[in-house]
Amino acid sequence: MIVVLLGPPGSGKGTQAKRLVSERGWPQLSTGDMLRSAIAQGTPVGIEAKGFMDRGALVPDEVVVKLIADRTRASDCSAGFILDGFPRTIAQAQALDEMLVLRQLKVNCAIQFEIGDDLVVRRLSGRRTCVACGSMYHLETLKPAHADVCDQCGASLIQRDDDRTDVVSKRLSVYHHQTAPLVDYYRRAEKLTVLNAGQSPAAVTEGLSVALSSWVT
Ligand code: ADP
Ligand code: ZN
Repeated sequence: MIVVLLGPPGSGKGTQAKRLVSERGWPQLSTGDMLRSAIAQGTPVGIEAKGFMDRGALVPDEVVVKLIADRTRASDCSAGFILDGFPRTIAQAQALDEMLVLRQLKVNCAIQFEIGDDLVVRRLSGRRTCVACGSMYHLETLKPAHADVCDQCGASLIQRDDDRTDVVSKRLSVYHHQTAPLVDYYRRAEKLTVLNAGQSPAAVTEGLSVALSSWVT
C-alpha cells in the first residue's frame, strides 16, 4: 500500500509515520530526513538543498522527485511505503503519479493531518531533535529524562535551524501556498481522508489506523 501523509510542519506526520513503520512494516520515506542526511554527508544534493531549507523554502522539485524515484526502487519498498513530506507541490504529485504508473503502481490514499497554525507554532518552537538518531522531544510535552540528552541514544538534542520561530512562520506560509492545494488534488482523485491532528498522539494513531483500514484494497 502506498500512503501519502499530508499536513503542515509540526502536524505530527513524522511521529505517526514512525509508528506505522513498526506496526505495518512499510518504510517511512521522509524527504526532509533524506535531505538532512545529504547535508550531514556533504553530498552535492545536500549542498544544493541547505540554503533552501535554512530559510524555510522548498527544495526544487527535480531534486526531491529524484530522491524518491531512487529510494522507492529499493527492495524494502516492494510491499508499499509511507510518504512523509512528499509530495509538497502539485508538480511533485504529478511526477509521483507518472512514476508510479510506469511501475504499474498508484497512491492508494492520502491522509490530511488537519491542525491550526497556532498549535503548529507552539509545537515546533518547543521541539528538540537528537543530532544522532533523529528522535524528537518537546520542552513542555515530551521532555527527555535529562535535559538536552536523547533518551534513545545519549547524543545531544538541538533545535533544528528551521524550527526557529521566524522560519516556522515562513514554512507555514509555504505550506498554505504550495502544499495545501494537494488536499484538493487528492480529494478529486477520491483518495483523501481528513484526520484531526490536534488530538493527542495516541488518538491520532487510532484515527490513522481506522482510516487506513478503510483504504485497504
Ligand atoms: P517539516 O514537515 O517539519 O517542515 P521536513 O523535515 O519534512 O519538515 O522538511 C524540512 C525542509 O526540507 C522543508 O522546509 C524543505 O525545505 C525541505 N523539503 C522536505 N521535503 C521536501 C519536498 N518534498 N519538496 C521540497 N522541499 C522539501
Ligand atoms: Zn538519539
